[in-house]
Amino acid sequence: MRAEALLPDLIRRAGRSPHDVLAGVEPALRALGFAPRRTREGPEAVLWTRGSPRLALSGHVDVVPVGEGWKQDPHGGALAEGRVWGRGACDMLGAVAAFAGAAELAPDAPCAILLTTDEETRMGAAEGALRDGLLSGLEAVVVGEPTGLAVGTAEKGVLWMRARTAGRNAHGSMPELGDNAADRLVRALHALQAAPLPGHHALLGRPTLNVGRLAAGEAVNQVPASASAELDIRYLPGMDAAGVERHLMQAFGRAGEAPGLETIGHHPPFETSADARLVKAAAGAVASVRGQPPEVVGFPYGTEASRYAPAGLDCVILGPGEPALAHTNRESVRVDALREAEEIYAALLREYA
Ligand SMILES: [Zn+2]
Repeated sequence: MRAEALLPDLIRRAGRSPHDVLAGVEPALRALGFAPRRTREGPEAVLWTRGSPRLALSGHVDVVPVGEGWKQDPHGGALAEGRVWGRGACDMLGAVAAFAGAAELAPDAPCAILLTTDEETRMGAAEGALRDGLLSGLEAVVVGEPTGLAVGTAEKGVLWMRARTAGRNAHGSMPELGDNAADRLVRALHALQAAPLPGHHALLGRPTLNVGRLAAGEAVNQVPASASAELDIRYLPGMDAAGVERHLMQAFGRAGEAPGLETIGHHPPFETSADARLVKAAAGAVASVRGQPPEVVGFPYGTEASRYAPAGLDCVILGPGEPALAHTNRESVRVDALREAEEIYAALLREYA
C-alpha cells in the first residue's frame, strides 16, 4: 500500500498506542511478502524482512504527547492543503508509511524494515534489536527521521550529567560557620563557561553545554549543604563520554572545586564517512528522484543511529517532513514529500539488492 493511503490510519492508531501502529503496518507488509521477527523482552522492536537484505529502513512508531492549540484533529490523519495532518505525520509515521510504499515500488528487492516503539523516551527497543541479533547480517541502516529529504551523516553525542557539590549547613545569619554548597556550584559552573569543550565539525559546528536545571537549599535562612546542576552536553564525533568528563573535572579543578559527576543519559555521536557506500547511494537516490543532489547535514540531537552506528552499521538519517514541524501542534507532511521518499527508499533497496 502506498504511503499516502496508509499514513492516515497509522496516525489514528498512534493516538491509541505504538503497538496499534505495529498492527496497522502488518497487513501491508505481509501482502508484500515480509515476515516478522521480534525482540524477546523489554520495549518491542519488530524486524520485517523479505529476501536476504543488507539494508534496513528504520523508524519508530511511538509519538510525543499531543499538547494544545491544534487546528486539525491531532489523531485524525486528515488530508488538506496537500498535506497529511496529525501527531506523528512528520516524526515519523510518514517515513514508516513510505517504507511500505517503497517495498511495493521495488517488489523484487530484498528489504528489511525495522520498527521500534520507544524512541521518544528510552531507545530500549533499538538496544533490544541489537541484543537479540535482529540486525545481524545487515550492513547499513537508513533512519527515516524527518530531514526534508536532506541526507544526515553525523550527529552530536548527547551526554546528560548531574554535578553535585557538598558543603556544611549553618544558620543563614552566621554563614561563616558553614560551607555554602550553592556558592561552590556557582564557582564550578563559572569554570565551565571559561573552558568550553574543544573542537569544530564541518556539519555539526561546536560542542555545546547547557545548564538545564539547578537545585540548592531548602530555606532562605540556611546555608545549603548540597547543590546540584543538570548539564546537557552535546559533543562531537571523535570525543567520548570519558573525555568529556575529564574535561569538566579539569575545569572544575582550576576553580578549586571537585563536584561529584553522575551520568543521567547518554547517546554517543556518530559520523558516516562521505565515502561510505550508503552515503553515496543515498545522495544518488535523492538526486535521481529530485533532480538535484541533496544537502548533506548533521544534527545536534540523537536518533536511534546513536545505537546502530556503534554496532558497526553505516547509518544515514533521511526522511520526509520538515524537522521544524516535529513535536508541534502544526505537525503534517507534504504528500509530494511522501511520494519522493518512497521513490528514494525504493532506489536504495534496488541499489542494495
Ligand atoms: Zn522521531
